[in-house]
Amino acid sequence: MTVKDVTIAELVDTLPAGVVVTDPDLLEKYRRDRAADPLAGQPLAAVRAESTEHVQIAVRWAARHRVAVVPREAGTGLSGGSTAVTGGIVLSTERMRAIRVDPLTRMAVVQPDLLNAEVKAAAAVHGLWYPPDPSSFEICSIGGNIATNAGGLCCVKYGVTTDYVLGLEVVLADGRTVRLGGQRLKDVAGLSLTKLFVGSEGTLGIVTEATLRLIPAQPPSSTLVATFPTT
Ligand SMILES: Cc1cc2nc3c(=O)[nH]c(=O)nc-3n(C[C@H](O)[C@H](O)[C@H](O)COP(=O)(O)OP(=O)(O)OC[C@H]3O[C@@H](n4cnc5c(N)ncnc54)[C@H](O)[C@@H]3O)c2cc1C
Repeated sequence: MTVKDVTIAELVDTLPAGVVVTDPDLLEKYRRDRAADPLAGQPLAAVRAESTEHVQIAVRWAARHRVAVVPREAGTGLSGGSTAVTGGIVLSTERMRAIRVDPLTRMAVVQPDLLNAEVKAAAAVHGLWYPPDPSSFEICSIGGNIATNAGGLCCVKYGVTTDYVLGLEVVLADGRTVRLGGQRLKDVAGLSLTKLFVGSEGTLGIVTEATLRLIPAQPPSSTLVATFPTT
């Protein structure tokens, strides 16, 4: 056994069966996002965390052994943000899929793997709406949306992801968990660290839970075509 095998075995043994993937065939799907980087590295393992605690364990292990961590969600990114690094691990939160909607305070507490479309659907049950709409909304996740501050056509009128993130739970590089922001627009005491984390592409920490602001559902939309005789 090499030193590398021993260190990975330590991680495999610490987490429940099936959480850490080391089979090269299974690892293949964790190497690239939609940027399809031909230079993508060969990770040692992919950790499919099921809880914040799993993320903490993996990050602490990585810090101890000086192993690079690449956070990953649905892998629809077009800029290679979740491209794997040789000798590193891919930390996927694809198994963290809980959501709770509170219609009274118009907010949703979501784990990172919920697809944007699933958050919209859960909000719609209560007559509410989650506006950020990257055109990949049916295939990309809230964790990825937060890490990239995603926006789509609706951002012109309604704003982008950061305008709907009230609070975050984040695992930092040393494995500590912090809670930023809160459940209300008025939870603004201290530095605005929530805004700093949104759009940080996983470089500051791994998002394990987000509190999202919802607004009342909009009336059905219609399309209007207008023509003008001059510019
Ligand atoms: C057809 C198509 C259309 C698209 N249209 C748009 C668009 O209109 N607007 C737009 O903004 N984008 C668009 N995108 C890009 C992409 O869908 C978005 O960037 C999306 O937010 C990525 O989400 P994901 O779940 O796939 O994240 P991934 O691709 O897995 O990751 C994206 C980045 O987030 C980091 N990350 C992932 N999860 C976490 C986490 N839990 N904590 C911390 N960091 C994390 C990764 O390390 C990486 O840097 C499009 C992509 C496609 C394929």
